[in-house]
Amino acid sequence: MHNQAPITRRKSTRIYVGKVPVGDGAPIAVQSMTNTRTTDVAATVAQIKALERVGVDIVRVSVPTMDAAEAFKHIKQQVNVPLVADIHFDYRIALQVAEYGVDCLRINPGNIGNESRIRSVVDCARDKNIPIRIGVNGGSLEKDLQEKYGEPTPQALLESAMRHVDILDRLNFDQFKVSVKASDVFLAVESYRLLAKQIVQPLHLGITEAGGMRSGSVKSAIGLGLLLSEGIGDTLRISLAADPVEEVKVGFDILKSLRIRSRGINFIACPTCSRQEFDVIGTVNALEQRLEDIITPMDISIIGCVVNGPGEALVSTLGVTGGHNKSGFYEDGVRQRERFDNELMIDQLEAKIRAKAALMDQSKRIVINHLEK
Ligand code: SF4
Repeated sequence: MHNQAPITRRKSTRIYVGKVPVGDGAPIAVQSMTNTRTTDVAATVAQIKALERVGVDIVRVSVPTMDAAEAFKHIKQQVNVPLVADIHFDYRIALQVAEYGVDCLRINPGNIGNESRIRSVVDCARDKNIPIRIGVNGGSLEKDLQEKYGEPTPQALLESAMRHVDILDRLNFDQFKVSVKASDVFLAVESYRLLAKQIVQPLHLGITEAGGMRSGSVKSAIGLGLLLSEGIGDTLRISLAADPVEEVKVGFDILKSLRIRSRGINFIACPTCSRQEFDVIGTVNALEQRLEDIITPMDISIIGCVVNGPGEALVSTLGVTGGHNKSGFYEDGVRQRERFDNELMIDQLEAKIRAKAALMDQSKRIVINHLEK
């Protein structure tokens, strides 16, 4: 692994979304959101379970109606991951899902209505230990702020967020996190920077409506990459017009790239050229699919020839360097006598990676047991 200075995280308070800690140095939680009809309980549960399989920490479910609140009750009983209910305007829905064990309410107190409604939601959240997420979005900024600033600006998003924060402050409620999302990368980044200086609560990061799989991933990586590398951000969601499972994978890939949080395999592969001695692209694609279940953090380098292969293999958990008919194999930076047959590369490498992951998991368990004694 390459050495690098660790990122100093912004200091914040901590909340708990169900059992998942958010803020105050806790691992940055990766979230996603279901896109099934919440009233379709079976489809929504199936999607949440698919998200659980790729390691999601928290899932948001929109609850637009009382029927959806009833469905939420049944969904909640069938999944393990903490659930956030996304609610707009109707405070009664918030009270209802609180009864059904919701782990966090995504509701903006300034949009609930009169003081007694706000109070009833906040008192309920306090009684049941349910945190709130304030979510400001550049696309739905209050009309008066749009008029004041002319367009969504970082100051406008900040002012909008602080209106909701001030309401919770006034009610002595501090168990909340805040997001100031925008589809424009620079608008979102600057808004989060301003907000990070104003409050001590955890921040939920996202570039909203970022786009499809490719463009949305790029925008999110740039925006969240800037913020995370400055230590800003305690939980994140990648908003893609794609399968929510992809949002989780991209979220972990961003954290992995910044070496903030490792989960699963970090593949290092060359772009290939005429020097490649085996099918690098086919190998990487096949292994990425086959090894989705591996959660052990590992660096695996798959390099087509000796130009860059040995150098990358030296700093990888396992590495392959393309050779004529047979390719060189490295473990923990040490060249092994064993070589892979280029034709059998995928199967042989998969077996090696699985065996190494099992060994690393076992060593970790031994260390933990020792420390607990
Ligand atoms: S490592 Fe070798 S095969 Fe891969 S891109 Fe570089 S020169 Fe080409």
